[in-house]
Amino acid sequence: MRPLDLTEKDPSKKITIYFEGKPYKAYEGEKLPVAMLANGIYWLTTSLQGRKRGAFTFGPLPVTVNGVKNVNGRKLKVRDGMRVERQNYGEFQEAVEVDGGKEPLREVVDVAVIGGGIAGIGAALEVQEHLTVALIEEKGWLGGLMFIESVPQGGFDEEPRKVVKKLTSEFNENVRVFTGTTALGIFDEGEYFLVPVVKGDQLIEIMAKRVVLATGAVENIVLFENNEFPGVFRLDFALEVINKWGVAPGKRVAVVGRKPERIIPELEKWGIEYVVVPNPKRAEGGERVERLIDMNGNVYEVDAVIVSDYRIPDINPVTQAGAKLKFRYGYYVPVTDGQNRIRDGIYVAGSAVSIKPHYANYLEGRLVGAYILREFGYDASPAVYREKLEEYEPESMPRFTLSLGDMNLEDVQICGCDVNLKKVDDVVKSGITDLQIIKRLTHLAMGFCQGRFCLFNGALLASQRTGTPMDKLDIPVARPPIKNVKMKVVARG
Ligand code: ATP
Repeated sequence: MRPLDLTEKDPSKKITIYFEGKPYKAYEGEKLPVAMLANGIYWLTTSLQGRKRGAFTFGPLPVTVNGVKNVNGRKLKVRDGMRVERQNYGEFQEAVEVDGGKEPLREVVDVAVIGGGIAGIGAALEVQEHLTVALIEEKGWLGGLMFIESVPQGGFDEEPRKVVKKLTSEFNENVRVFTGTTALGIFDEGEYFLVPVVKGDQLIEIMAKRVVLATGAVENIVLFENNEFPGVFRLDFALEVINKWGVAPGKRVAVVGRKPERIIPELEKWGIEYVVVPNPKRAEGGERVERLIDMNGNVYEVDAVIVSDYRIPDINPVTQAGAKLKFRYGYYVPVTDGQNRIRDGIYVAGSAVSIKPHYANYLEGRLVGAYILREFGYDASPAVYREKLEEYEPESMPRFTLSLGDMNLEDVQICGCDVNLKKVDDVVKSGITDLQIIKRLTHLAMGFCQGRFCLFNGALLASQRTGTPMDKLDIPVARPPIKNVKMKVVARG
């Protein structure tokens, strides 16, 4: 087994890849960051400011593959003999290929469900008897966060992955599943909504009479020095490497963030040694994390740091689709009518609405499905789901105070696209609190994640420095495409 493998892999899939000229053992079908992690290699790319970075926090991961630059290393599946080299962000000026795109395909359905987590699955199951559905999921699997957790969840009687498999095996022929497919936005087209989606290099125009946004939540980014150093893991990435790929994030890990209980059971299950560090100040090391120092000066010798904090709704898909936001439960949520609609024809369900247990998100998916059935004139009982859902109060996120005086803000990354906290703080301190202007001046929320991860901390900073309440800040609306896409896929002559 490789140094960080937790499980035996299929020996018939064993291959050799070369990273920076050296051979490493990998398995067919693995993604590059996972194969390198299993071999103990964390540093995969270098930012514009020369900062070493891995694949498990945020920011792009351009690599050179068999001499070809600008390959997205995050999604790259390894093949035997593949030669991969590190690349700097600075060289990552994607040559804009406008020609050579394929003709778009078109798919007409009654309902487009964006997001194949437990909420999206619930919505598809509810309507499938009478309506056709396109279930669109960016990842290679259905089940969202639940699929990469192994600890049983309240409301379901089996372990998460089995629940997902059982529910998705109940899909009938009316449900067309698009995995590895990213929705770029929602546009009005007469009595239909156009949802352009991309699978590989293929653009598919999904025409749907109703849309369900079940786009889930994102992990809150915890700010400390070198919070994007190779070896720092966002919680969803840590869960993915452990439970999907059978690889440990490290041999001895530090757990930071306000919700260590989200990862501890998984670490204990696999016998991964850990230490909980509630007040991290700085991660350090050569080519990867070697130690974590806390605010009291304690030094922890660890080889990985897992950030286990709160989740907050991903506001980009909903604001692009036309939702207004309100600040509730300590985060921004979409404003909905009494039927979970952000406007006519567009519904929201699951963690995209508020943070709740998986079972409640599943019920909410079923609830919006029932509302849609009723709109199409079929018998449905949304009240049953609504009543059950009322038993679940959404999770509140306590307000967090950024320790601005105690850290070297230049070393704290607020946004994966090389925007450090000092840069944003300098603008805020100069008296500018309008996030639209902060965005333009600092580049915050203008790069790869388009603010999904960084905007909240930007808002928190502006609020903390100026005393402006979070609900009085003007949060920028996301523009399409809400996810990155190659120009040639969407360009048309
Ligand atoms: P829970 O929060 O309880 O896990 P949920 O279904 O509300 O349930 P997630 O598990 O986060 O939330 O699932 C949301 C899914 O939506 C994720 O798997 C994510 O990959 C997917 N998703 C988000 N945005 C897009 C998009 N633009 N295109 C395709 N899929 C998307």
